[in-house]
Amino acid sequence: MYRKTYVGGSKIQGTGVFARQNCRIGEILFFLTGELVTRDQMIAMGSDGDVLIQVDYKNYIIPTHPALYINHSCTPTVGIRDDYSFIALKYLHRGEELTLDYSTTMLERLWTLNCACGSPKCRSKIEDFDLIPAMLQQYYLERDVVQNFIAEEVGYHPDEIAA
Ligand SMILES: [Zn+2]
Repeated sequence: MYRKTYVGGSKIQGTGVFARQNCRIGEILFFLTGELVTRDQMIAMGSDGDVLIQVDYKNYIIPTHPALYINHSCTPTVGIRDDYSFIALKYLHRGEELTLDYSTTMLERLWTLNCACGSPKCRSKIEDFDLIPAMLQQYYLERDVVQNFIAEEVGYHPDEIAA
């Protein structure tokens, strides 16, 4: 089912997701699937959102394989487009680890994590999208890999910028 990726041991931490084949920029690798829960349900389950992926102000997905295993990096190799599609942000070589900047899915004022992803551009903290540097926000917005409700919240209007 997950033809383009596989799950294995990661140098970043624990288990990670890897490219099974070379992938071009923008290529869809897999989709986010899983049970939809509300923020209140998530908190009632005892979770602070650490493994869940936010898809709207009040809604989260409990990700299934392989999204469940994707590690964070401050210089990620993939992003999520249209809320559910994991796409390659760069040319991916077979065997390369897929990483996501978790901040591109977060606007919740709930969960943060100290980061030690090893990137030279590591921000040292994973936090809500509106709190990361403006230049980096722009980078992700221009590539259309920010959850839609966040892009709307930060007032991103691609047509105006292009004009
Ligand atoms: Zn980092």
